[in-house]
Amino acid sequence: MEIIFKDAKITRPQDNQPEQIKKLFPHISPVKKGDIVAIKIHPGEYGNTTHVRPVIVRTVVDLVHQAGGLPFVTDTTTLYGGMKLNGVDLINCSSMNGFNQISMNAPFIVADGLRGGEGKRVQIDGDELDSITIASAVAESDSMIIISHGKGHPASGFGGAVKHLGMGCLDRAGKIRVHEVGKPSIDPEKCILCGECVKVCPWDAIMPPDIDHSKCSGELSCAEACQQEAIIPPPDATDKMQKRLGEAALGPIKALKGKIGYINWVYDVTPGCDCFNFSGERFVEDIGILAGNDPVAIDCATIDLINEKVKPEGRSINTIWGVNPGIHLEAAEKIGCGTRKYKLIR
Ligand code: SF4
Repeated sequence: MEIIFKDAKITRPQDNQPEQIKKLFPHISPVKKGDIVAIKIHPGEYGNTTHVRPVIVRTVVDLVHQAGGLPFVTDTTTLYGGMKLNGVDLINCSSMNGFNQISMNAPFIVADGLRGGEGKRVQIDGDELDSITIASAVAESDSMIIISHGKGHPASGFGGAVKHLGMGCLDRAGKIRVHEVGKPSIDPEKCILCGECVKVCPWDAIMPPDIDHSKCSGELSCAEACQQEAIIPPPDATDKMQKRLGEAALGPIKALKGKIGYINWVYDVTPGCDCFNFSGERFVEDIGILAGNDPVAIDCATIDLINEKVKPEGRSINTIWGVNPGIHLEAAEKIGCGTRKYKLIR
C-alpha cells in the first residue's frame, strides 16, 4: 500500500504545510461531486495547544469544496470529564481552540449528538466485538477525510488514523464497548480516601474504596488522578482495549464503504493525546505529513518514521508509555481495515 510522505524539512515557501496538503490531497481524495463529506479531526481538549492547526483543516475544507463536495468538520463526545463530554462543551472547546465556521469555512458538527447517544450499529464480526456503534453523522456521510495528529497515547501507545476510526468515530455506547474491559478496582490498603478519583469520574461510579461497575465506563481517568496508585485495572486491560480498538476501526470503514482518505500530521509529537488538557514536551523533532487510503499502513509508516528518529537515543514509540501500538494495528489488519505493509513515496 502506497503512503505519500512530505518531509517537515522545507526550505521554500511553496512547500509550506497548506501547499503540501494541496499536493497530497488529489492522490487520496475519495470525494465525488455532491458528496456530504465528514472531515474528522480532534480539536484538542481545552488547555492542549499541540493539536492539528485550524489552517490545515481549512485547507482540506477548501479542497473538498473544489472537488464539488459539501464538507463539515466533526468530532464526537468523550467518556472522560473535560470540555468534550457533551455536544455543547465540545463546540465551545473547538471554537476556543480555533475551529469554527469563520476559520474553517465549514460548520463544526458533533457527530454523535448532544450526549453521545446518536449512533448506528455496524456488524464487524471480530474476535472481541461482533458489532460496534458509530456516530450517526459519520455513518450518514458519503465520504470522509480523517486528519490525525500523530502522537503517543497512554492506552494505545500511538494515536493516529486507526485510533480515530476505532474510538473517535464511535458514539458513546461504542466507546464504552471498547473501554469496558478496563473497569478497575480500588486497593483498600493503598486508598487514603482523598476523593481525587471521585472528582474526575463523570459517571458517579466511585465511592472509595468501591467502584460501581454498572456505572463505570472503564475510561480510567481515575487511575491517572490517583496519586497512591490505588486504582488497579484488570491485568489484560490494555491489550484487550487495543484489540477492541483495532476491530472497532472497521465500523466506519464499512459504513462508508471504504470512501475514506487519511492525513497524518506529524508535528509537535507529544507523548500524550490531544485529549490531555496540557501539551507535554515534544519527544521527537517534527516529521512531516503523510497521506494514504489505508489507515493501518499510514499509522505503521508514521510510527516507523518516528522510531527512525529516536532510535539513536535508544527510544521508540513503545518506550514512551511501555505500550506497544502494534497490538491495535495487528487487530485492525486482521479484521480487514488494511495492511501493515506499505511503500513510502517521498
Ligand atoms: S484517588 Fe486513589 S487514594 Fe484517593 S480516594 Fe481515589 S482510589 Fe483512594
